[in-house]
Amino acid sequence: MLKPTSNSSHQSFQIRRNGAAPQAASTTPSEETPAAPSDSLDIGSIKTEPTAAVADSRPTIVEGEVLVKTKASLFKSDQDSLLESLGATVKERFEFPEELFKSFDGEVLRLQLPDGLTTKDALKRLAGDPRVQYAVPNEILYLDEMEAGAPEQGQGQAPDDSSGHMPNDLDPKLWGLHNRGQDRGTVDADIDAPEAWAKTTGSNNVVVAVIDTGVDYNHPDLVDNMWTNPGEIPGDGIDNDGNGVIDDVHGYNAYADDGDPMDGHSHGTHCAGTIAGQGNNGQGVAGVAWDAQIMAVKIFDDSGKTSSDAILRGITYAAKNGARITSNSWGGGQKNDLIKEAFEKSSAFHVMAAGNNGRNVDRRENYPSGYEMSNSISVAATDRNDRLANFSNYGQQEVDIAAPGVQTYSTIPDGRYGFKSGTSMATPHVSGAAVLMVANEPDITNEELKQRLMNGADKLSSLRGKVASGGRLNIANSLEKDNIAPGDIRDLAARAESAGSIGVSFLATGDDGYEGKANSYEVRVSEQPIQTLEQFLAATPYDLGKPVIAGEREEFRLAVAPSTEERTMHVAVRAFDNLSNASPFAGSEVTVPAAQLAFEDSIEVDTQGWTTEGTWGIETTQGKAVFSDSPGELSPNEANQSITSPVIDLSTFKSSALMFDTSYKLEEEFDQVHLEVASVPAEGEEAEWAEVKAYTGSADPKHEVVDLSGYDGQKVQFRFRLTTDRSYTEDGFNFDNVRVLGQKTA
Ligand code: CA
Ligand code: CA
Ligand code: CA
Ligand code: CA
Repeated sequence: MLKPTSNSSHQSFQIRRNGAAPQAASTTPSEETPAAPSDSLDIGSIKTEPTAAVADSRPTIVEGEVLVKTKASLFKSDQDSLLESLGATVKERFEFPEELFKSFDGEVLRLQLPDGLTTKDALKRLAGDPRVQYAVPNEILYLDEMEAGAPEQGQGQAPDDSSGHMPNDLDPKLWGLHNRGQDRGTVDADIDAPEAWAKTTGSNNVVVAVIDTGVDYNHPDLVDNMWTNPGEIPGDGIDNDGNGVIDDVHGYNAYADDGDPMDGHSHGTHCAGTIAGQGNNGQGVAGVAWDAQIMAVKIFDDSGKTSSDAILRGITYAAKNGARITSNSWGGGQKNDLIKEAFEKSSAFHVMAAGNNGRNVDRRENYPSGYEMSNSISVAATDRNDRLANFSNYGQQEVDIAAPGVQTYSTIPDGRYGFKSGTSMATPHVSGAAVLMVANEPDITNEELKQRLMNGADKLSSLRGKVASGGRLNIANSLEKDNIAPGDIRDLAARAESAGSIGVSFLATGDDGYEGKANSYEVRVSEQPIQTLEQFLAATPYDLGKPVIAGEREEFRLAVAPSTEERTMHVAVRAFDNLSNASPFAGSEVTVPAAQLAFEDSIEVDTQGWTTEGTWGIETTQGKAVFSDSPGELSPNEANQSITSPVIDLSTFKSSALMFDTSYKLEEEFDQVHLEVASVPAEGEEAEWAEVKAYTGSADPKHEVVDLSGYDGQKVQFRFRLTTDRSYTEDGFNFDNVRVLGQKTA
């Protein structure tokens, strides 16, 4: 039976603590560490760099410098007087040529401040200056590394029935490209690369800049896919093409401002291999694109440190020298108008990592992925089972799409290969996909690239409400040009099977009208009429299986929350094709019979019948009594304590459900309340508690419905178990108005 998939349910993450100071500007997520594969490759020891304490002690700005964007067409005398008023000198002048940066109106200067004038004071003085558009600090960012385990290997994989085009170097470790269930993965939890390669494998005409720690341009799987600057003569010490950089043959070291972007770190080389490791060359890996021109733009030094000036030089170089796509597996720090504008006004398409803090970036943004731009896309990470990675940032507004990014296998320096995890690894999957799209349609616009990447994503319940597209990259879909929506859903009928179950049946529609197969269904149920799209989108969503061929009959069962009242429920269905073209929705209504109470406690007086541990008890606020984990206080630290319900007899019930009201405030991720259920065990045996839901973070008062149909016919108990870590707690968790309902079978 299908269960409702709540939009609002709070996903539980296990993430590393990355610093308690919410305003810290220094963390730069996007990377996990390599883990040695099981064969002979050795990729070095695992660094577990910054804990919060380390990160917070590192400088976050270059003190004594500011970056200024002056007003357009400022007279030289005005600029001179601006410098004079600060006592500053120009350390660097950035050039944003008009043909590459649409309307970058104004000049960008990096100023050296005089002794005694701090960056902070200078920014204050520049804030209202009529000669200045804006000024920002020269911020320092660090590429942080986390640990990543190697996959459990040697598990079986499904027979290869893919109709796609296979290279001779599609290593089974490349689950993100083609997942046959190897290493405990899920079949087809991948970007459908072989299906895409049947159409295109890339092109040596597409230039993709890897803005990162550099690239090992001698790596045997990358050497033939490196961008080579046509106007530059290597090693003659002369800037032959006059682009401002001497001997920049394969890219640019923007950190050191020289022509050698060799990667002494490994992060950039790893990203490059995912984008465009040479495919079908009999060795190593295949990239998402087998062919491309990788322009190495090194903005980080080999320790993983960079600053805004290097970032600006890097973005500018990529645009000036013809990058069609830039891949940005880095981020962090404060909002920076200058970096935003450089990205926004360059003609390239920018792919950006959403970051690895495991947080909702709609609430607290990550940059540069959080900048609203029509020529960029931000990327979360999924694992080999199509779950959102536990470290991945997410956000229905700020994050556009997800892509494989856990235990990604790719190139690392010195001709080797290794695993890394992070939204850093998800990002190059999307960059490589963009390479294929540009190779296939050279005139595609940035807006089309973004739209098609998002529309083609495979919609997943794990990503609904987490990323704007609700899906994980599927490049085979995104290569397709398809504006024809599926036809109407026909012959929709709904009938009540019990107080908690509705059967739905309809005739399948197709990909284009009634041709072919639709790609997915969206089914929603409400007690309110569903007549408008707005009402449809406000109803409770359900996941249905993959559509059958047009004209065949679909049958699904939906679990709905039982009620003690008989009521009319409204069901509506629409179909999507593989590019998110939607059919109109069709609706039906059904009378659902009343359910009966198996248990009720409105919790007004005491804890009678309940078993409490630790600080659980009654709390009364505004004349209303609720159960609280810590009445009148903050939750305790290092807690593991439960409140357990009386025994509830469901032996004559079906379609049972538990309902209660709750509100809570818990330290996100680290403090949790686990809702657990167990059948009453036989005499002398231990109860086996199964977690049905976990709560963390905070929530305003809400009504919860938890399906207990798995316990129909049994005697059960449920409990709320609070677990907290050793530091910092919030108000805690409370609940009220507990009911268990089901339909009487006898
Ligand atoms: Ca596939
Ligand atoms: Ca040059
Ligand atoms: Ca290869
Ligand atoms: Ca279609």
